[in-house]
Amino acid sequence: MRPFDEHTSLMNMGNWQTFLAHHAANQQQAGRWRHRAVRKSGDERIDFASNDYLGLSSDPRIIEAQQRGAQRHGAGSGASHLVTGHCDVHHELEEALARHTGRERALLFSTGYMANLGVLQALCDSDCLVFQDRLNHASLLDGARLANARSRRYHHANGDDLQRLLTRAAPGQRRLIVSDGVFSMDGDIAPLEALTSIAAHHHAWLMIDDAHGFGVLGEHGDGCVGQRYASDQVQVLVGTLGKALGTAGAFVAGDATLIDHLIQFARPYIYTTALPPGVASASLESLSICASEPERRRHLQHLIAHFRAAALTAGLPLMDSSTPIQPLLLGDEARVMRWSHQLAEQGLSVGAIRPPTVAAGQARLRITLSARHDVGSIERLVNALQHCQQGELQR
Ligand SMILES: *Cc1c(COP(=O)(O)O)cnc(C)c1O
Repeated sequence: MRPFDEHTSLMNMGNWQTFLAHHAANQQQAGRWRHRAVRKSGDERIDFASNDYLGLSSDPRIIEAQQRGAQRHGAGSGASHLVTGHCDVHHELEEALARHTGRERALLFSTGYMANLGVLQALCDSDCLVFQDRLNHASLLDGARLANARSRRYHHANGDDLQRLLTRAAPGQRRLIVSDGVFSMDGDIAPLEALTSIAAHHHAWLMIDDAHGFGVLGEHGDGCVGQRYASDQVQVLVGTLGKALGTAGAFVAGDATLIDHLIQFARPYIYTTALPPGVASASLESLSICASEPERRRHLQHLIAHFRAAALTAGLPLMDSSTPIQPLLLGDEARVMRWSHQLAEQGLSVGAIRPPTVAAGQARLRITLSARHDVGSIERLVNALQHCQQGELQR
């Protein structure tokens, strides 16, 4: 790619072609051009990159439930929830999700991204202060922006820093503390004990986005919040269905007053087509399997322990995570790309995560484990990683 002429670009920014070319050139020059790999059916590679933690996305019972839902209600829902899109299967799923998380009510959203936008937009305005963990998911940061709320970002998982920011808030301001439950690029779990007590002390509400904990953590897969923290401790709980549950969509769970407020005011809820009924039906089946087959979580925990022990022995740069997200912090972006290509050649697919998704110098391989895997595939992965490392020593 030809280096972009900065002067010409500033002169011509009123022109769309120039605007697009300018951004494309910057992205490429920074080595940050994003690529999509097409996944074909029958791909033989072992997948260590997806969020299908329980291996449910290909479960025949769930696929069959999806077909049943479609046969009963149609391939699509045909309208938004407030018009005619809200089918009995959506309603049943909401009730099951509320029971599963120990909440009074739950509300379905089309995606987790939209659930976070919807909650923040409906709860916050310019009189609201939002306190966010530095490593929160992009959708949480974007939601606060959509709401025109002021966001303060505290040091990752650091209750002291959060307290410091909270003591500066003016007395009349509503405060919302927002955190990922399991951090998507690091795999560590938010300090929930500390967050709940800080929130109570400062009269703040606490919102936890448990996209990566729901289904995976807790005896019945109720996540890192679930039944352990009541809705007067964690007022807003968000979970997604596209990760451990293997389907698609998301939900917000909490008290009836919260859910009613979202139905009235959350624009990303109101102005979009309801999830396809087949997806709701599949999610209902998936939730039931998730709750009744704890052996999936036990097997996954066993694989996590096995991977960590082997990676530690191999001297790989493990991060401090007890969840299926097991990143290897390589630091350098080119190094991450080299390793991930080498692994791909050996039939192993892992996520290559680079800035701006993570901070500069923090590029990493995002390895995710799943109940689909067996000990043999974990060993293959660790051996291949060791090879990458040895190859590097010889460079
Ligand atoms: C994946 C993810 C989301 C978005 O969920 P989608 O259903 O994929 O839109 C939100 N929050 C976190 C923490 C996530 O990891």
